[in-house]
Amino acid sequence: MEMPPLIDPFARAITYLRVSVTDRCDFRCVYCMSENMTFLPKKELLTLEELDRMCSTFVRMGVEKLRITGGEPLVRRDIMTFFRSMSRHLDSGALKELTVTTNGSQLARFADDLYAAGVRRINVSLDTLDEDKFARVTRWGRLPQVLKGIDAAQKAGLRVKINTVALKGFNEDELFTLSDWCASRDMDLTFIEVMPMGDLGGEDRVGQYWSLKDLRGKLRERFTLTDLDHRTGGPARYVRLEETGQQIGFITPLTHNFCESCNRVRLTCTGELYMCLGQEDMADLRAPLRASESDQLLEEAIRAAIDRKPKGHDFDYSRQQADGQVSRHMSHTGG
Ligand code: SAM
Ligand code: SF4
Repeated sequence: MEMPPLIDPFARAITYLRVSVTDRCDFRCVYCMSENMTFLPKKELLTLEELDRMCSTFVRMGVEKLRITGGEPLVRRDIMTFFRSMSRHLDSGALKELTVTTNGSQLARFADDLYAAGVRRINVSLDTLDEDKFARVTRWGRLPQVLKGIDAAQKAGLRVKINTVALKGFNEDELFTLSDWCASRDMDLTFIEVMPMGDLGGEDRVGQYWSLKDLRGKLRERFTLTDLDHRTGGPARYVRLEETGQQIGFITPLTHNFCESCNRVRLTCTGELYMCLGQEDMADLRAPLRASESDQLLEEAIRAAIDRKPKGHDFDYSRQQADGQVSRHMSHTGG
């Protein structure tokens, strides 16, 4: 049955759903989680069948791109069943892309299965190529395991994009090492500004913040940068390094506002729909999902939520404090 597309109050079509399938993770990145996180009781989580129903409803309502994230999506038990089941929407043509954002720790196990389920591109988060620094920033992660995962992904035929959080005094000195490494392996690279999400148990947010404006300036010391117009439907802006042809992306929620072209909403693993990453407002979709075997209540709840999608977020570090901070962790909403 044809359904009217999801259009928000600012005439933006919602075609992109990011789904956090778990709040758990095998890492404890310093900017994302505190060391002692309390996770949701398992019974709060949507089952894989419920996640399927949620995603399939969004696909019916016009979502064309699905990104599976978390927490660490690949540590959710039996998650490949979910990926395999979503591939039916790729086969039907309703879904154009199924992707995943991962810390890479489980890719050696799952890369082939992801490819078989129709995933073609993945994002791997990696902030440093130094083993000791990697252990420090992820607390629990081990670099060789992730590098093996990236090898497996490329071997399986997945296109890999590396996402690096720019962290002051931490990976400033690795700008060129990271970009050369990505170029040598034909992987795209995007830098992300650290965002004020969740209480980190004493970690200093403003102290972590390395402006991408500054990062660009450093790149310019070695390369001629050309700003590229093309967007990928996401918040990233790209530059080309003229000397090598390499493209580098920047996600700058704080120094730039990218909300005017926002096409996405985010579903948590408990069925909360966040219409904006940077705002507290959300809609509970689990209750309407569980209230009835038909999807009608769910569809109505989704439409009502999209009608409330705000114009944008209010993150701001300019007063040397983390203004506009939202209380939940990135692993809750899904980065
Ligand atoms: N565990 C997976 C991973 O690390 O790729 C997926 C979830 S993680 C929350 C998604 C992305 O959010 C990662 O690239 C991570 O670096 C980023 N992230 C987490 N906390 C952040 C923060 N406070 N500011 C900016 N990016 C953050
Ligand atoms: Fe885990 Fe990803 Fe958060 Fe790191 S950024 S703690 S890998 S969810």
